[in-house]
Amino acid sequence: MSDTVEMEPVEDFRARLRAWLKDTMPVAPPGFGQGHGQESDEEELRQVQRNRDLQRMLFDGGFAGIVIPREYGGQGLTPAHMHVFNEEIVGYEHPNRIQIPTFTPCAAVLLDFGTEEQKKAHIPAMLKGDEIWMQFLSEPSGGSDVASAQTTAVRDGDEWIINGSKIWTTGAWWSDWGLLLARTNWDVPKHRGLSVFILPIHQPGIEINRIEMLNGSKEFCQEYLTDVRVPDSDRVSEVDDGWTVGIRWMFHERSLGHSPYPIRPVGQGRGGLGGNLLGLARRSGRDRDARGRELVGEAYALSRAQQLLGRRIPELIATKTTTDQAAALGKLSGGSTGVRMATITNELAGSAAVAWTDEDEQLGRQGVGFVMRQTACIAGGTTEMARNVISERVLGMPRERAADRDIPFRDVERTAPHKK
Ligand SMILES: Cc1cc2nc3c(=O)[nH]c(=O)nc-3n(C[C@H](O)[C@H](O)[C@H](O)COP(=O)(O)OP(=O)(O)OC[C@H]3O[C@@H](n4cnc5c(N)ncnc54)[C@H](O)[C@@H]3O)c2cc1C
Repeated sequence: MSDTVEMEPVEDFRARLRAWLKDTMPVAPPGFGQGHGQESDEEELRQVQRNRDLQRMLFDGGFAGIVIPREYGGQGLTPAHMHVFNEEIVGYEHPNRIQIPTFTPCAAVLLDFGTEEQKKAHIPAMLKGDEIWMQFLSEPSGGSDVASAQTTAVRDGDEWIINGSKIWTTGAWWSDWGLLLARTNWDVPKHRGLSVFILPIHQPGIEINRIEMLNGSKEFCQEYLTDVRVPDSDRVSEVDDGWTVGIRWMFHERSLGHSPYPIRPVGQGRGGLGGNLLGLARRSGRDRDARGRELVGEAYALSRAQQLLGRRIPELIATKTTTDQAAALGKLSGGSTGVRMATITNELAGSAAVAWTDEDEQLGRQGVGFVMRQTACIAGGTTEMARNVISERVLGMPRERAADRDIPFRDVERTAPHKK
């Protein structure tokens, strides 16, 4: 990102930010960033509103969108400033739960491909906390093969009429806008007949059904789109060239925390890696046995390796030492590390992870985290798909056989579209 205004030295920025945070942002309460997904709807809406307010505080203080250009409401600073922001924000409450997917990947995709009007209309609104975005990518017929989208957009003058269904949209019921991949041409091979649109989520023609997960959370949604009209001015990039956008979209999605272009704060995601495992081991008494201490050591080593990989991958991509597709390395290691961390945490929590008293509630939550541990291997593309990308696109191994690559999508054998 380039800006004509002189760049503030990183250490001056740190001092200014540190003073502002101390004066303005609330200190994070215990357990901040470790939502357990079982909140009531009222509590969930309260947390979302709190996040909007915190985002607005960052915006008003001049600290929202550190690397986003000034013309779109950001600060026009560098990834180095963003890293400083990530270090200094630790310990303070901040709008951690609306960063994904509003900023990564939605804002990132708009910055890469949006028109000036689209960027000016939406990026500042995101930075102020006025617009929370969701990605409408996965479909009931399958999420891994994104290019097989069956949700269809048909042109009608200056508008498009969209029909179909999207699924696994996290938090669509409390969000404002969606970034949607749809099929605009059935007579060409699957990758060549897609287009990308943006649309308000709450409008006639979009029915949102909520899905209850294993942990009781109803954050996941399935949307049914029936004759939804979208103006052509809300199309992102060229008609039928949605796969060019899609490849970049997936790059942003996979490189959460590993991006050479870090447009959102990282470090204190909901239920993220790390955490005070030693404190947990003390609470459960596992700090006194050798096996418990070994597990804490392993978790620390894993967290540290993950942290260093988070620096190394963007460096290699930014210096073109490797391809953008290497972002899949971060996705794979994030997924497998997440599973191991949840397993270690569960073991350290001991029997309280399965049956707990009110005083042991924090230990009890670890059991829920264990049950949900596979989410890190599925969300944002599965670890199996990451392995495919790494072998084919990073290591240059032969491509997986695909019977549908060169025939019109209309003739491809596929699962029937999902009906209500
Ligand atoms: C926490 C969470 C949040 C999510 N949020 C969103 C969201 O906001 N928006 C959205 O659109 N989606 C979202 N998703 C959906 C997610 O992107 C999909 O679940 C994921 O892409 C996998 O698609 P699927 O579940 O349809 O599985 P499928 O594609 O049906 O795959 C089933 C299994 O087959 C494997 N598989 C499939 N193809 C291959 C292949 N070629 N080689 C090897 N193995 C293969 C997969 O790895 C998987 O194990 C979310 C998922 C989770 C868990």
